[in-house]
Amino acid sequence: MSNLDRQATPSVCGGRGFVVAEPVRELLTPRRVQLGESTEVRRLLPNLGRRMVGAWAFVDHYGPDDIADEPGMQVPPHPHMGLQTVSWLHEGEVLHRDSLGSLQQIRPRELGLMTSGRAISHSEESPKPHARFLHGAQLWVALPGSDRHVEPRFEHHTGLPAVTAPGLTATVILGELDGAASPGTAYTPIVGADLTLTAGAEARLPLDPDFEYAVLSMSGEAEIDGVPVLPGSMLYLGCGRTELPLRAASDAGLMLLGGEPFAEEIVMWWNFIARSHDDISRAREDWVKGVRFGDVNGYAGARLSAPGLPPGPLKPRGRTR
Ligand code: MN
Repeated sequence: MSNLDRQATPSVCGGRGFVVAEPVRELLTPRRVQLGESTEVRRLLPNLGRRMVGAWAFVDHYGPDDIADEPGMQVPPHPHMGLQTVSWLHEGEVLHRDSLGSLQQIRPRELGLMTSGRAISHSEESPKPHARFLHGAQLWVALPGSDRHVEPRFEHHTGLPAVTAPGLTATVILGELDGAASPGTAYTPIVGADLTLTAGAEARLPLDPDFEYAVLSMSGEAEIDGVPVLPGSMLYLGCGRTELPLRAASDAGLMLLGGEPFAEEIVMWWNFIARSHDDISRAREDWVKGVRFGDVNGYAGARLSAPGLPPGPLKPRGRTR
């Protein structure tokens, strides 16, 4: 998915200065963002109070939407740089095309992982025909400086490993959880996991005290460390935890996001993550000129045009503001 916000505002984040070293319970509410004509998403990261969780730098939650008589998701070709995109569905399907020639349908609980590295472009659409309901999350992972110019790559993984406890299935999407590792390529110590809780479940999820964590609620009635978190909201948990208490009053679907606090300061604007204003400005210019980011074949429609850069240079402001 793309940041289709026409008033794309820069956000600068990263650095260890603003990481919460102890366990906290900080409820993050979403900002509603319209993506094109057909889809509204709830944006959890970047958030006014918090911009990253580990290397996770962008989280959109969408649906469940009834798209039986709708086009559904229609995100035209657009560029990425300096990040990985993670597509994760609970219902429906998304057809991914990219400038490497990938053409892949992504279904519920399959990992679509695109590493942009120095440059890639892609489109995402609901295929025709498609399932009635569309429900998922789109996330970005910032690449560390040493790997941000890697060759672009697309991975599709099915049959991801899971950790189970009574009433809980934790499917490892990216990184590692309790000894189970995702086959997806990760560039920083990170975890992304899908948590399925059954009604009445009480479970404790083992965590790494060196990681910071957050949990996104996607469906159902769940309590995370005693805090009720409604679908579409996210609870930031800080660092220093060895386990996380979870309870569910009904069947519930959550996403655990965590990682070693991202040490570098980054500049994020539109669909790019960089280290400086000039990096961003050059990437924008290259997309306008039609160079570097390649071509996406087969999407019925024009590619996205880049919004204008805001006046003045993009400056670092820390990871929470
Ligand atoms: Mn995208």
